[in-house]
Amino acid sequence: MTAAPTNGSPATPPELLVLADTVLTMEPGSTPLANAAIAVADGRITVIGPASELQAAHPDAPTIGGPGHLAIPGLINAHQHLTGDRLIRSMIPDDLEPGRSIFEWAVPAHAAHTGDDDELSATLSLIEAACNGVTFTVEAGTVAHPDRVLAGFDAVGVGGTLGSWGWDVSGEPWAGDTVDEVLDRQRVVQELTAGHVRVDGWVTLVGHDLMSDELVVAASDMARRNDTGITFHLSPSDSDTASYLERTGKRPAVHLDDLGALGSHVLLGHGVHLGDDELDRLLSTDTAIAYCPWAYLRLGQGVTRAGRHVEFIQRGGRVAIGCDAENAGDAIDVLGATALAAGLAKDMAMDPTAFGAHAALHHATLGAADALGMADEIGSIAVGKRADIALVDTTRPEWVPLSPDPVLQLVWASDGRSVRHVVSSGQVVVRDGEPTLVDRAALAIDARARHHRLVEAAGLG
Ligand SMILES: [Zn+2]
Repeated sequence: MTAAPTNGSPATPPELLVLADTVLTMEPGSTPLANAAIAVADGRITVIGPASELQAAHPDAPTIGGPGHLAIPGLINAHQHLTGDRLIRSMIPDDLEPGRSIFEWAVPAHAAHTGDDDELSATLSLIEAACNGVTFTVEAGTVAHPDRVLAGFDAVGVGGTLGSWGWDVSGEPWAGDTVDEVLDRQRVVQELTAGHVRVDGWVTLVGHDLMSDELVVAASDMARRNDTGITFHLSPSDSDTASYLERTGKRPAVHLDDLGALGSHVLLGHGVHLGDDELDRLLSTDTAIAYCPWAYLRLGQGVTRAGRHVEFIQRGGRVAIGCDAENAGDAIDVLGATALAAGLAKDMAMDPTAFGAHAALHHATLGAADALGMADEIGSIAVGKRADIALVDTTRPEWVPLSPDPVLQLVWASDGRSVRHVVSSGQVVVRDGEPTLVDRAALAIDARARHHRLVEAAGLG
């Protein structure tokens, strides 16, 4: 561990000093900083330096953290459904045949969702995420009322990306009858989020085989033209491979590349079942993948046999870790998913030298930001970046005694429950484990009532 050198100069007096015994900046080649302070102004990190020095220079600045805290960058959740599953969380049975969980449960729940349900779902999901240290969430592409989900982001005070339901299949909820109708919905979200400090409008499609070639090409072009990202689901199980082979004669990623729909602006959800030719196409187009290991285990999708995410990373592929849905992995705990990613990598390779905690944590922080095309903005503790910081309580039982390697202890011994305070864009959004901007008890009462209404309206249970 090294003492913090002073880095940056305080152009504006800090609005907040974040203090920690140890700071993991996650910057390339960095070592943990001891007894450091992170100064914040206008939502951004202005200085990183010795705590004693910065506190002496700014005796009146409010502080958070201090002794008994480890500071890490706010975590990134690269694939999360913020509506639909939340109000029926952990309710869909875990012994259903493939597809039934989606089409007999999740889709009817989405179809019965009101705007109020969307806002409450997103708020509850983002509270759980924030309490587990997540400050940036990529919505996975199934939002009916984006204005209400944006209100959820604002209520909790965290950042993310947001689009709207994007599929052109007939007879399904929130589907567009034409490609233009689907794209118009995305355009509305781009306008809604224009100039937003923490939430970016992305283009989101459901993906799988639930999009026409015309739609995916036009949607990808739209994201490219607007200099934003696009995300959609592909090949969590082997059913997309079968349907693309039947329809096009090619495997999914090969077909999408032949259409010109892949590229560095694309974040594929999952990419578990990929052939050699598909891996080559994703690498040559610099297409990124959101990897959600708990979802594949909950749904029995075969990641332990087929997953090639580590090989993809080792060949230069961009990967971010995600959590998926509250009935697919359930917990919105990126640290838990990070530990699983490391464990699966070692076990699948039967090689303990493969992909350890340090590598895995990179793909929940700076590596994740890179996969989202946002490495200049989030993912590490660095001067000029958004002040997104999670403070871990190292007085908790799992942190006693402290390991000389905080990354090993964070990933293998701990999880989101160790997170005590969270700063998002310079604002304290979680203090002492509780969200600061919303009334969690009142939301819980609302959630119980809305759960019952939704179960009835959707004909579930
Ligand atoms: Zn998903």
